[in-house]
Amino acid sequence: MSDLAAPNIELVAVEVLREVLSHQRRMRGGGCTGEVCPQCVGHHLSAVRSAMESGRRIDFVLPAFPTKSPNPAKVIGPLPDLAEELALRFLNSLCERITEIYPPGAAILICSDGRVFNDLLGVSDENVSGYAQALEAMITEIGATHLEQFTLDDVYNGAGHEDMRAMLSAGYAPTIEELREEVRAGGAPLAMYRGITRFMLEDLSGPHYTGTRSALQRKCRALAYRVIQRSRAWGELLDGLFPAAVRLSIHPQPCATDKMGILLADTPDAWLTPWHSVAVESGGRFTLMKRAEAEEAGAKLTFTAGRPSHYAMEQPGTSVAADASDSAPAHHEPWR
Ligand SMILES: [Zn+2]
Repeated sequence: MSDLAAPNIELVAVEVLREVLSHQRRMRGGGCTGEVCPQCVGHHLSAVRSAMESGRRIDFVLPAFPTKSPNPAKVIGPLPDLAEELALRFLNSLCERITEIYPPGAAILICSDGRVFNDLLGVSDENVSGYAQALEAMITEIGATHLEQFTLDDVYNGAGHEDMRAMLSAGYAPTIEELREEVRAGGAPLAMYRGITRFMLEDLSGPHYTGTRSALQRKCRALAYRVIQRSRAWGELLDGLFPAAVRLSIHPQPCATDKMGILLADTPDAWLTPWHSVAVESGGRFTLMKRAEAEEAGAKLTFTAGRPSHYAMEQPGTSVAADASDSAPAHHEPWR
């Protein structure tokens, strides 16, 4: 039993949701209003309240952190770097602030979806494993005690990677025809389809691609449907495994729907994520940019503990340190 009285539960639940929704990633024209959207607060209130009524920790599920983009014009390499670290620190600090509001606290289960669709992106299973292991080490290293990782490997423990994806699709995926119909109807599914198609085009049009642009566009449109199909299957599976959790998403979401879109970083492009970009430091603030754009803007690759970490803009009258281990991204919250 919680020691919170019923009217207090309502107030505290609203306070928790206001904290989360102050970082909301909104869909343009999605219907949200105000600085913190009251309709979205109302929609998610009962899930947060029911955790509180039994005195439980509030659990959030976030499918994210799949694997680095295979395009070297967008990222430093296949392993997590400062872009991921800043996002993990932000998510952990969000849980810390919720714990101040509601002492049983909060946790975010990062449901890495790399294994779910890496074959469609042309990323190897070894790279997915390496990324997930490095992310796990990073969570431990930065002391992000409110974050846990969960992957397809945890669901089908011991199965081959191809078999895992086949079992997931057979059990949970909608048909391509069903998805086409949703996309034709417009709105959020169409925005998602366009966003994913754009990512596929960017990821697959690296220097190794030799075909025509129109052939690549056809290929990417078809692949986008398959990525959405697998993502949807992953979401369905997670809903079944964690029915009481509050769903978060890295994609912009329409108002008052099952998932809350959440920003992971300060970026002018609402679709840009840490695994499609590099962290760029300028005057003590961080933003995300595609690697090639950071280089064009004159930013320099910066190392931490001998490994490439992020890019830094040279400030007038200062020089950029070759090793950033003394600069303090540790305490930085990128959009505050
Ligand atoms: Zn809303």
